[in-house]
Amino acid sequence: MPNRLRFAPSPTGELHVGNARTAVFNWLFAKKYGGTLVIRIEDTDRARSDRRFEDLICRNLKWLGLDWQEGPDCGGPFGPYRQSSRTAIYARHAESLLEKGSAYRCFCSEEELGRQAREARRAGVTRECPRSCRKFSAREVAQRLKDSQPPVIRLRVRSGKVVFQDLVHGEMTFDSAVVGDPILVRSNGMPTYNYAAVVDDGLMKISHVVRGDDHLSNTPRQVLIYEALGWPLPVFAHLSTILGPDRTRLSKRHGATSLQHFRDRGVLPEALLNYLTLLGWAPAEGQNEILSPEELVASFDIERVSKSSAVFDAQKLYFFNRHYLKECDSSRAVEWAVVHLRQEGLLQEVDSEVRQWIGLVVEAFLPGLDHLSQISQEAPQLWSFEAEEAVQDEGVRQVLSLPGAARVVDELRNRISHEERDLVGEWPSIVQSVKAASGQRGRKLFHPIRVALTGRDSGPELDKLVPIFEGGSQLELPHPIKDCRARINEFHSAMLSRGLIPSCSH
Ligand code: GLU
Repeated sequence: MPNRLRFAPSPTGELHVGNARTAVFNWLFAKKYGGTLVIRIEDTDRARSDRRFEDLICRNLKWLGLDWQEGPDCGGPFGPYRQSSRTAIYARHAESLLEKGSAYRCFCSEEELGRQAREARRAGVTRECPRSCRKFSAREVAQRLKDSQPPVIRLRVRSGKVVFQDLVHGEMTFDSAVVGDPILVRSNGMPTYNYAAVVDDGLMKISHVVRGDDHLSNTPRQVLIYEALGWPLPVFAHLSTILGPDRTRLSKRHGATSLQHFRDRGVLPEALLNYLTLLGWAPAEGQNEILSPEELVASFDIERVSKSSAVFDAQKLYFFNRHYLKECDSSRAVEWAVVHLRQEGLLQEVDSEVRQWIGLVVEAFLPGLDHLSQISQEAPQLWSFEAEEAVQDEGVRQVLSLPGAARVVDELRNRISHEERDLVGEWPSIVQSVKAASGQRGRKLFHPIRVALTGRDSGPELDKLVPIFEGGSQLELPHPIKDCRARINEFHSAMLSRGLIPSCSH
């Protein structure tokens, strides 16, 4: 039997990391063991389903680097691939189950049963339908169809054990008594999830059902439906639950968990793919966890999928992202920066000169970033240099209190004041001569230089910032950028006016 996998999202919201992880494992399985991946849209909940979410989910899966061979967007031999277009198929199979006697019409009111079940739950017991409709004769059924509310169709569950194979959990055995007689088709004609999923998985010839273990308790019902339809069972693989850092089930309480959120923040798809794969799976011992999509496929092994819950830790995701940001082609980061700095109103026309300058900005800031959207938090500091404010900053004041700091700033200013000096080309020799004249080195040299140049006590490497300030000041930007000379002179004056540089040195 060929390997056929499926990812079956309900388009009732954005794709979140838990579902994305399920999609990734299905994709890895199909790639690794050779197979077809099907996307099936489970949109039987018409009130909550929205085509907008379906599009978003598919776009996000593509962005993540996944591909599939059959689905609502590309068709395929087992379509349609949206459950809302398959109602006639579900009805046909329900009819044949009724004819065989494997299912029956139940006239108990769904509301009444729901009320009784809720009451029973409050009392700490479970209460299923009393199954009294099982024994109606054909005549009684015909009579009730005329007199009563439309019925639901229920599976006539056999007694005994339900057994299925799970690649993660091993052989699973349940007693059929625990599942009641599940509803297959509701009174409004809509199929239930368990029934539609089985009809589709069967007709779509799905060989492996890989999904989250929140569906483990549904599986005995589904196995009984397969049996009733006379179809072979697929192999199941139920992936462990994803938890938040506090080890409770990952949810909105833990902050944003949608894929789109991380995408908007500038997390690279290869970082997310790599990280999602490690939620419930680990490479062989001694193998690096940083794996390209090709390496992930090569090393993936369904046997290594873990039963125990995985913790989603955004910090670890950012750790992966930092790695991929360093590796990525800088043009991706430049594009990102252009879009975001434009949104901030800091850029307007972006010609090749501006783009080249943004290249320097990206190169300077990238090593300190968790995700690209931090560029729009960090880069604006290039525009915002106010010496008067800077000298009052707590961190800057600490730097200036270092012994010899004032002397460093003073010597620096002396050296940059000749207008004709090319600060970019001569920067290393300027720093060397400040060092010689002030007698300071290490952080006692570089920190005072940094605060005089940037007004801040931390940031990208100075050697990278000097060409950015010099180049940026020459560009036509909506807001000007001060060059190094202006910065150092202003900072020096602010120190002088506050008595932070003894005026006798002038
Ligand atoms: N639509 C279901 C969900 O999103 C899919 C369950 C399954 O894979 O069978 O949870």
